Amino acid sequence: MSPLFKKLTCLTGVGPSKSRLLARLGLHNVYDLLFHIPRNYEDRRRITPIRDIREGEYAVVSGRVSDVNFKRIRSRQRMLEVFVSDSTGMIQLTWFHARPSWAESFQKKNTVTAYGKVQYYGGPQMVSPVYTTAPNPEQSAEFGCILPVYPLTEGLSQKFFRRIMREALTAAAEVADAVPHPLARAKSFTNKTEAIRNVHFPPSLATAEHALRRLAYEELLVFQAALALQRRTIKDAKGFNFKTGRNVEQRIRRLFPFRFTDAQNKVVGELCRDLRSQRPMHRLLQGDVGCGKTVVAVYALLSALAERSKGHQTAFMAPTEVLAEQHYLTLQELLDGTDVRIMLLKGSAKPAERREKLQRIAEGRVDLVVGTHALIQKDVAFNKLALAVIDEQHRFGVRQRLELAQKGRRPDVLLMTATPIPRTLTLACFGDMDVSVIDRMPPGRREVNTRLLGESHWKEAYQEALSELKTGGRVFVIFPLVETNHELDLSSATDAYRVLSNGIFKDYPCCLMHGRMSAETKRETMRGFRNGDYRVMVATTVVEVGIDVAEATVMIVQHAERLGLSQLHQLRGRIGRGGRPGFCFLLASDPTEDARRRLEVLCNTNDGFKIAEADLKLRGPGELFGTQQSGMPELRCYDFSDLPLLEEVRNDAFELIENDPGLDRQDNQLLKKAIRQGYAGRFALGGMG
Ligand code: ADP
Ligand code: MG
Repeated sequence: MSPLFKKLTCLTGVGPSKSRLLARLGLHNVYDLLFHIPRNYEDRRRITPIRDIREGEYAVVSGRVSDVNFKRIRSRQRMLEVFVSDSTGMIQLTWFHARPSWAESFQKKNTVTAYGKVQYYGGPQMVSPVYTTAPNPEQSAEFGCILPVYPLTEGLSQKFFRRIMREALTAAAEVADAVPHPLARAKSFTNKTEAIRNVHFPPSLATAEHALRRLAYEELLVFQAALALQRRTIKDAKGFNFKTGRNVEQRIRRLFPFRFTDAQNKVVGELCRDLRSQRPMHRLLQGDVGCGKTVVAVYALLSALAERSKGHQTAFMAPTEVLAEQHYLTLQELLDGTDVRIMLLKGSAKPAERREKLQRIAEGRVDLVVGTHALIQKDVAFNKLALAVIDEQHRFGVRQRLELAQKGRRPDVLLMTATPIPRTLTLACFGDMDVSVIDRMPPGRREVNTRLLGESHWKEAYQEALSELKTGGRVFVIFPLVETNHELDLSSATDAYRVLSNGIFKDYPCCLMHGRMSAETKRETMRGFRNGDYRVMVATTVVEVGIDVAEATVMIVQHAERLGLSQLHQLRGRIGRGGRPGFCFLLASDPTEDARRRLEVLCNTNDGFKIAEADLKLRGPGELFGTQQSGMPELRCYDFSDLPLLEEVRNDAFELIENDPGLDRQDNQLLKKAIRQGYAGRFALGGMG
């Protein structure tokens, strides 16, 4: 067996308990460990004269011990103070909880070398620095070099990691290099083994950065080449083509009680090109909540159904029953008086009903099926699925999206997302797709005024809600949890509903909405809120998508600090949909500085793209939509801060596939293998057998 795939217990000092801790970081074998990338480095190469050290910076100082104090502070705690001088000044090294024996290692006049953060309390100080009393410190493993700082978990120290990493590095020569030789030569890449070594124990910080970039390049190349292959397969495929002439166009547009915005028309144009073409549509439609994506999707669905004699069927899949039902209702109303046969398919359907519906789908007796995950169950078979639309695509896994597409013979596929995706991520994750963006709101949409309130100001939010209720408005109060969590000290939607409906909102009919209620109850509740039987809805984040009530003008989000920015942005998209301005109050109890900064992004902008960018910077792509969901592999070396690198790799990868579509050339064999290992299940990789 390659030493790379040996379990970590093969390393000195790693037993079952340490290996369990390592597993917590996702580290199972030597290969994993080699790609555990330092989050930072400590530069301990140079000794700084004490005179030149600065508060707040890390530094190495070296000098002779001029004094040692062992003090008792408070009743039990002892403090060790060691004063060290060089020819330029003096610094105090401090240890709390010191044991008397420690003092012995500091003899007056002896040399001490220490590394730590410089603080000032009267004079310069380091608290609990790393130190050595060796006369030639650069000969110890701790000084005279740059040391990696790793992401840790409790029970594992930097020292431990550095030690096992040095041992693991002996296997680095075994790691295969997927970058084809000609490419590596053109880029003057160092060899990969050296790059791995330099990422962990670099001779200079510039070397470390260079090495990491090289590893990131390779990691992205494998991913982008997989996308390029996928894109090529689709481009070469023959699917459906639909007729989209003037007649069809006019018939469809007449159904809507409004004119499409310019932004919608532009996207309709892009879609129509796909629809007319024999090549299957493989398009991602992005646009902020409420910008009118659904309308555009409906346009595509109806175009696909225009030639009735062809027997085309279409599917519209949404992530929740609430949303599927809402789409169904909208469509039903819209298609009233046309001959389009529409059906709603949900997971909660009774067996007999489900059987009957499946039969109609299979026999082609229904044209447009709206549904949830129920659509991709094994027993669902279409007669002739020609177009599939997937709403809120990020709520489905890649596999699920693929599964729906596989219900037909290369149907057109349109994915939609209301979480705007930053450009880096779009390129990285959806490089195999065409992308359309609706970047303007329909007329009449109001900006939502957003404020962040600390606990002492919560009342203001509820007062505002009351005054909106008095003038006919409707109010959402969002609690992230269904049930109170005492451990986290979070109150729940259920408890809040009880308190609010008997308290401040007692004069107004209130309702409760959360994901664990039956679909029937949810539907009834939704209907009640929409037609005004209820004026206040206390809910979990289930209202995030799709709930469309024009009269809702106030949203209060409790525990806002627990939610992601994009999620909050989605939530507040539920208000300000009528002619009246919306007010969103983010309530946080004692938010950290970080949380405050994060939430303030929302107060300062309504632009979903800006928010997504901020979210990406603050929390990384995994959080933004779940790494698994997006179909993105877990990238260990690339961190999305370097857009030019991603663009470079993307171009290289697409060019590579253009020139060698089957990756058959000798130079490309290792790349081909890496793609197979990493991506075989994710894509229907064509041409690669
Ligand atoms: P999304 O799916 O992007 O969240 P929808 O398509 O559901 O947005 O549209 C949101 C609301 O705006 C719906 O009530 C819809 O009827 C309305 N709408 C969409 N396009 C227009 C338009 N061009 N003019 C006026 N209202 C529109
Ligand atoms: Mg929508």
